[in-house]
Amino acid sequence: MQTKSLCPECKKVIDTIVYEEDGKVLLEKVCPEHGTFKDVYWSP
Ligand SMILES: [Zn+2]
Repeated sequence: MQTKSLCPECKKVIDTIVYEEDGKVLLEKVCPEHGTFKDVYWSP
């Protein structure tokens, strides 16, 4: 799933990929200026 979120560095709206791995929902945020950020979106 693809969504939008804010870059933690520049606070711009950037493309974010939401995916599941090992039962956790992870976010991969891709900022053209600051690169890729990974975040846990939800865990049980
Ligand atoms: Zn950024």
